[in-house]
Amino acid sequence: MAKRACLRYAIDKRSGCNEISAGVLAVYRLLQVLCFGLMFASGAVVRANNDQPLPNFIVIFCDDLGYADIGPFGAEGYQTPNLDRMAKEGMKFTDFYVGRSFCTPSRAALLTGCIPTRVGIGGNFGPRSTTGLNPDEMTIAEVLKQKNYATAIFGKWHLGHLPKFLPTNQGFDEFFGLPYSNDMWPFHPEQQRVHFPDLPLYEGDKIINPKVTPEIQKTLTRRLTERAVEFIDKNKEKPFFLYLPHPQPHVPLFASEKFLKKTKRGLFGDVLTEIDWSVGEILGALKRNKIDERTCVVFTSDNGPWLLYGNHAGSAKPLREGKGTNFEGGFRVPCLMRWPGRIPAGTVCREVCSTIDLLPTFARLAGAPLPKNKIDGKDIAPLMFQHPGAKSPHPVFYHYDGRNRLVALRSGKWKLMFPQSYGSPIPGKDGRPGKRVSKTIPLSLFDLEKDIGETTNVAEKYPEVVQRLMAAADAMRKDLGDGPKAGPGRRPIGR
Ligand code: MG
Repeated sequence: MAKRACLRYAIDKRSGCNEISAGVLAVYRLLQVLCFGLMFASGAVVRANNDQPLPNFIVIFCDDLGYADIGPFGAEGYQTPNLDRMAKEGMKFTDFYVGRSFCTPSRAALLTGCIPTRVGIGGNFGPRSTTGLNPDEMTIAEVLKQKNYATAIFGKWHLGHLPKFLPTNQGFDEFFGLPYSNDMWPFHPEQQRVHFPDLPLYEGDKIINPKVTPEIQKTLTRRLTERAVEFIDKNKEKPFFLYLPHPQPHVPLFASEKFLKKTKRGLFGDVLTEIDWSVGEILGALKRNKIDERTCVVFTSDNGPWLLYGNHAGSAKPLREGKGTNFEGGFRVPCLMRWPGRIPAGTVCREVCSTIDLLPTFARLAGAPLPKNKIDGKDIAPLMFQHPGAKSPHPVFYHYDGRNRLVALRSGKWKLMFPQSYGSPIPGKDGRPGKRVSKTIPLSLFDLEKDIGETTNVAEKYPEVVQRLMAAADAMRKDLGDGPKAGPGRRPIGR
């Protein structure tokens, strides 16, 4: 009514009725006051809604950390008390998958919510790559930017090191760390063969040190952690997305002086002890800033252990093989999530979920629109919050390899692997790689419930399961294609 009166006055003005009687003026003033009152009241409601703080998201993404490399998943020879606490206060995911069993594509999957093949990414990028994650793809950081999140990445990027592909052009306000893997440098044990240039260290889009030395690598876990804590302190009043992709425990292994020679497991155990310390610092910063209950922390890995490096690699026990293969040891990683008051404490989720689910889940929780392009990830909040009857949103989960071939499918307890060759390692020692022996498997079906180690092929015993999964594979091929034969759903890599 007040609105109508105001409008009426405006119409009167437009029609030249400038003379207003004292009575009319008094009524108008009264209405004006009412108008203001209503505006103020509705404004207060808007503020109240906006005052519901949006959740913060922290993703701690280790490099080449195996399924059994942290306490809650059975680590041996060293302790991870902070990760143990994180599991006790949160949820452990036993069937959590990455988008591919090595670095670059796994990171693309995490940040875009897509099977890496969908965003055109096959193998790893190196120092001489001219490609990168296509800036047209939306990353988690860009999705959350729609809701004014502060965003930062401290650690290893590995999605293209040319300026247009750097994190600061992919939704991140801050970047401190390495452009690609920490072994792509002149100290590589096979440098004679691979000829890596110097490894640079970045701050934003600038190289702040063109030549990372072993002494600098030793400091990285500590410095990345300090930057993460600083970022949390600075942004405690506003929603933030903090991405902490540790370059460790990818070889070459490095830990700060004060963590060296502290565990029975040697340098690998020392590195893990420092990563665990880092988790403790981050959880401590959340508590100190009293933002524990509006912060979701995810701890996971980009792929399984690099078994070729023997005692400098982690363990995927009881899973088969490790990094670079399509067995569970390559794709299945340890995962913990903690969010006091939202994720029930001390719980376990055995449903299939994946790093590709983080983007749509965070988007939903932040009320941010999803990317316009198709993504493969699904909202797993119902699993995180233990809604009654919540199930995996992936009736079938698809594994594509570095050559964009559809190599395996997981559906419930079943895993179908197409005939393929793989490199089975003869482990090396003390930072030197061993050798790979090429092996092959025929079309194989594994019952992961009874046979988590993928030891017994039951394809002949369950032909109807094989047939159903073959049909699911065909449906996916119509979308993403298979190998060099690209489907219509495959989008271009950044060039
Ligand atoms: Mg990796």
